[in-house]
Amino acid sequence: MKFNTKTIHGGQQHEPATGAVMPPIYQTSTYAQSSPGQHKGYEYSRAANPTRTALENNFAAIENGTHGFAFSSGLSAIDCVLRMLNPGDEVIAGDDLYGGTYRMFTKMFQKYGLKFHFVDMNSVENITNLVSDKTKLIWLETPTNPLMKIADIEAITNAVKAINSTILVTVDNTFATPYLQRPLDLGADIVMHSATKYLGGHSDLVMGALMVKDEKLAEELHFIQFAGGAVAGPMDSFLALRGVKTLHIRMQRHCENGRAVAKYLENHSKVKEVFYPGLESHPNYEIAKKQMDDFGGMVSFRLHDESQQAAFTFLENTKVFTLAESLGGVESLVNHPTTMTHASIPEPERLKIGITDSLIRLSVGIEDIDDLLKDLTQALDRV
Ligand SMILES: *Cc1c(COP(=O)(O)O)cnc(C)c1O
Repeated sequence: MKFNTKTIHGGQQHEPATGAVMPPIYQTSTYAQSSPGQHKGYEYSRAANPTRTALENNFAAIENGTHGFAFSSGLSAIDCVLRMLNPGDEVIAGDDLYGGTYRMFTKMFQKYGLKFHFVDMNSVENITNLVSDKTKLIWLETPTNPLMKIADIEAITNAVKAINSTILVTVDNTFATPYLQRPLDLGADIVMHSATKYLGGHSDLVMGALMVKDEKLAEELHFIQFAGGAVAGPMDSFLALRGVKTLHIRMQRHCENGRAVAKYLENHSKVKEVFYPGLESHPNYEIAKKQMDDFGGMVSFRLHDESQQAAFTFLENTKVFTLAESLGGVESLVNHPTTMTHASIPEPERLKIGITDSLIRLSVGIEDIDDLLKDLTQALDRV
């Protein structure tokens, strides 16, 4: 199946009892057994639930994996991956991660004896120089949030696996989605998503996903999902599956609008810098072109006026772009990383990687582009 068919049909069967085209919302915690241990594959909904199974099979299909897992949030999916590690193990991660990922690594897992290195993923040597026999996991996010840096998934995976093939490479594919980039095909072991964002696509649920193609890894992750218990509920699973079915057409429009907004901002006199991997001015443009099929709907930019007041004036005056956390929904959102999504990163760290007061992040939705550009124009006029 081609991708645009897989989003709709991947891993799906009509419901056997009635032929229902969409899986029912199996709002049940438990399942009748005819004799102890005699059941129809479902015992208790933490272990498995048919609505969640339908979604998990679809998740596996769209990332070209064999197994998918749905969690109660993106962070609980990340938590599941980290629970495979043991005290003393080391993780090498990008230095421009989603704030909540950084917070989980440093505030939750460091105290259990895991060691984290945060490096600029632009250079493969930065990573290979840190690999030791303690290294167990590489955590990549590409494009990064909010600076839209691109890491070369294939080059990094090959270099790390050449040193030690058992080191796991995980890619947070939330920003790109499998419509644009498929990390398992590039050699990564695990794909992670905040399905809250593009996979769900309608800002109506919080969910995480993991996808893998290795049987043993799938068993290990399933055990932690089951034993840890942070599973996605049946209602949210239904909504997420409904969302994925339009992923390809939504992403097509996100990409068109994202490109148009990035080009508009690049030529605006009040804008100092635009961060969008589809612009030729982007430092990682060549890698992005090689690795991604298009460039998505996330655009960040910096104002010439570096004061927080200038940024706030812009943020308070957009009308079509809603000032809110999150991203990846059909509606356009605007966000101030310093005070909102990335407030959990200590200021010196933030400034070092370029998350300043004048940085603004847009999640460009699928509205009419004329209305989006008009909105940006009027809000920039006030700055
Ligand atoms: C939102 C987000 C997460 C966390 O996911 P939740 O669903 O909010 O728990 C992780 N990574 C990225 C890139 C995100 O945007």
